[in-house]
Amino acid sequence: MKARAKSSDSSLHGGSTPSRAEITKSLDDGLFELIGEHRHEQVSVWSDVDAGYRGVIAIHNTTLGPALGGTRMWQYENDLEALIDVLRLSRGMTYKAALAGLNLGGGKSVIVGDPNAKRREPIFRAHGRHVQSLCGRYITAEDVGTSPGDMEFIHQETDHVVGLAGRSGDPSPVTALGVYRGMKACAKVAFGKDSLGGKTVTVQGAGHVGYYLCKHLHEEGAKLIVSDIDNDKVKRVVEEFGAVAVAPRDIYGADADIFAPCALGAVINDDTIPVLKVSIIAGAANNQLEHERHGDILHERGVTYAPDYAVNAGGLINVNAEVEGWSLERSHKKASEIYDTILRVLQLASDQGIATYRAADRLAEQRIAEAGAKKAKTPKKRK
Ligand code: NAD
Repeated sequence: MKARAKSSDSSLHGGSTPSRAEITKSLDDGLFELIGEHRHEQVSVWSDVDAGYRGVIAIHNTTLGPALGGTRMWQYENDLEALIDVLRLSRGMTYKAALAGLNLGGGKSVIVGDPNAKRREPIFRAHGRHVQSLCGRYITAEDVGTSPGDMEFIHQETDHVVGLAGRSGDPSPVTALGVYRGMKACAKVAFGKDSLGGKTVTVQGAGHVGYYLCKHLHEEGAKLIVSDIDNDKVKRVVEEFGAVAVAPRDIYGADADIFAPCALGAVINDDTIPVLKVSIIAGAANNQLEHERHGDILHERGVTYAPDYAVNAGGLINVNAEVEGWSLERSHKKASEIYDTILRVLQLASDQGIATYRAADRLAEQRIAEAGAKKAKTPKKRK
């Protein structure tokens, strides 16, 4: 089965879920065919019946460094669906880390089970032993269905875990900073200068990232139009930043210069593209394009789209700080560099006449290929 975008979110949270026919076909093609399709290095499957643990860790690529990616706990319909999800997610992490200029590879893990399971310690300690068995080739973190408390259980068994309580903390402010900086880079290309003062920005979702993004935009003098299904979240940005509230369904057609999706995946689709009036799309949500072809349609329509995994890399930069021992200032500096990354993506897209999501992929692939070529030339360590 051809996995689609390299975004770091899953099929279950915005992208297209593989059909049963596709899954059956994947099985028919064979396990190594599936793993080899996108050149994954390693897939590890671990079972601990007594602990109630069934986990899969996928390592896509470690050319740039150890594979880092969160642990997702989800009640998959079947084991193959879990395998396809972890393959897709781990590949997304390779691209995200490479483009963000981090010395990390791409990996991810899934635990098959009820994310609300009460008896968590045995499950997550078993997962910790699984992670430890890979001797640092894979570093895990929190993801959908897991919490900082679960990471503490994992930490009982391995040091290869980030996002522990009292360490790098909430990634949202760093993610918002990166989105803000990426949005400014888009403005520079689309409007000729990177100031957002006086521009109208629609923000979908005033949650963790959306709130901090609104704060940056307000401080720069942008006008805000905001929607959220949670009225309290909307009220807060209306009161603090003078945002104008609209109903969730009205956010797409609002009169604005920039759209910042900060809630859901797949919001750039056949229904929304025709009503969007904006020149720029730059937001934190994962898997914003319902299908890759929607990125091509934006390109044809002249909309400047900041590829999601490039512009929302601040969260990964934040946890990478734990691996590297970075200060918060260093993380902020790195997240600010998303400005330059987006400029490079937009330049390549313009030079080659391609959609920006394709340009982002090419830059990530180029960095990995160059690092791989250097590694290949380095003489092997003598025994
Ligand atoms: P969050 O849950 O705090 O906020 C999301 C907000 O969207 C919530 O307030 C929710 O009520 C709202 N929402 C849900 N459906 C909506 C709809 N139909 N219309 C309008 N609003 C709706 O999540 P977050 O941490 O702010 O992350 C936002 C997005 O960015 C997510 O897609 C997440 O995967 C992605 N992301 C987050 C980070 C991070 O550091 N938190 C990093 C990378 C990517």
